[in-house]
Amino acid sequence: MNARPGSTWQWQVQNRLTTPQDFAQAFGLGEDWQAFAQQASSRLVLGVTPYYAQLCQAVPALLKTILPDPQELVLAANETSDPMAEEATRPKAAIVRRYPNRALFLLCNQCATYCRYCTRARLVGDRAQQLGKKQWQEGLDWLAQETEIEEVILSGGEPLMLSDARLEWILEGLKKIPHLRFIRFSTKALAVMPQRITPDLARLLGRFKPLLINAHFVHPCELTPQAAHAVELLLAQGIMVSSQSVLLKGVNHQTEILAALFRELYYLGVRPYALYLCDWIAGASSFRGDLGEAQKIHGALRQILSGPMLPKLIADPPGGKAELSAQVLEGNQGYLLTDWQGKLVPYPKVSGPNEKQDPRFL
Ligand code: SF4
Repeated sequence: MNARPGSTWQWQVQNRLTTPQDFAQAFGLGEDWQAFAQQASSRLVLGVTPYYAQLCQAVPALLKTILPDPQELVLAANETSDPMAEEATRPKAAIVRRYPNRALFLLCNQCATYCRYCTRARLVGDRAQQLGKKQWQEGLDWLAQETEIEEVILSGGEPLMLSDARLEWILEGLKKIPHLRFIRFSTKALAVMPQRITPDLARLLGRFKPLLINAHFVHPCELTPQAAHAVELLLAQGIMVSSQSVLLKGVNHQTEILAALFRELYYLGVRPYALYLCDWIAGASSFRGDLGEAQKIHGALRQILSGPMLPKLIADPPGGKAELSAQVLEGNQGYLLTDWQGKLVPYPKVSGPNEKQDPRFL
C-alpha cells in the first residue's frame, strides 16, 4: 500500500519550499519581500518542509525562525560568521573538537528546514562543502586515534538527512572504536520533520545504545501529535531524548512560552537540557536579547517549573560554553562569564545600532 503523501520523510524532503516564489505563495509575502529575497537568493539558503510550513502558517512566531529578513544582511557589533570559533578547532572537515572528552562529528551540511539564527550558517546549505563517505572515513580514523574522546555528537546540518543505510555505516564504524562510550545526535528533525523518526530508524538507533537524541525545539507549538509520536518511537527503543532550545526574540523570549515548552517536553518524556543564548552569528541581531534579560526569564522559570523541567541557561563564547548559574560579572562594556574551565571570559552586551553591511553581501 502506498504511503499517504506527506506522511514520509522522503516526501517532506522532496517537496520542500526552497525558492522565494515558494515562500511568497505559502506565506502571502508582498512584493518588497520578494524583491529582497530574489536579489539575495544566491546567498541566503532557503528551505522548509511542507509540514513545518503549515505550522508556520498557523504560528507567526515560528515563521520568523525560517523567513529571511533584510536585517539578515546587516552585521551588528560583535557578530561573526563563526561565533564559537569552530574553524580553529576543526582538525578534519567532519570533526570539531572544543572539549577534551567529546567531539562533534559533522555528517551533513543540508537541513530539512533552514533556521535564520543557525550557528553554522557558514556551512549549511553550501554544496561546495558537502560531506560524504571520504570525510566520514577521515572522521572515524581521527576518532579512533583520539583515545581521550568518550562521546561523539553527530551533528551537521541535520544528521538525520542521511538515509538509514548511511547512518548504519557510520554507527557501525563508531561502534568499533573501543574508547567511544556514548553517541549523541543533535537534531532538529523532531521539530521540523518528525516523519523522519520511522519505526525502522528507531530500531536502528536502538542497536547503538547508550544513545541520546538531543532534539532542538524552540516553541510549544512544535510539540504536535507527530512530534510526540516520534518521541514515543525513540523512547520505546530505550533511547534517551533531551531537548535544547535557543532563546529567540520574537519567537520564545517570554517566560510563559518557555514554561509551556519545557513543561510539555517533560510530560512527553523529554528532558529539557539547555537554553542557549542566541549566538553572535552574523545577521541574527533581531533574535538576540541581552544576557541580563535572559537571566531574568530563567529566574522566573525557576520559580514556576520543577527542577528536572528547568534547562540550564548557557552562553557559548568562542572558548567553550559558560553556564550562567556560575559567576557572572557585569561592567559597562559587557559581561565576564565563568567558562567550563573556570576561567573568566568576556561576553558582549547587546548594544545599539553599531551596524554595518555584512561583508558577505557587499
Ligand atoms: S536545523 Fe540546525 S543546523 Fe540546520 S539550520 Fe537549523 S539550527 Fe542550523
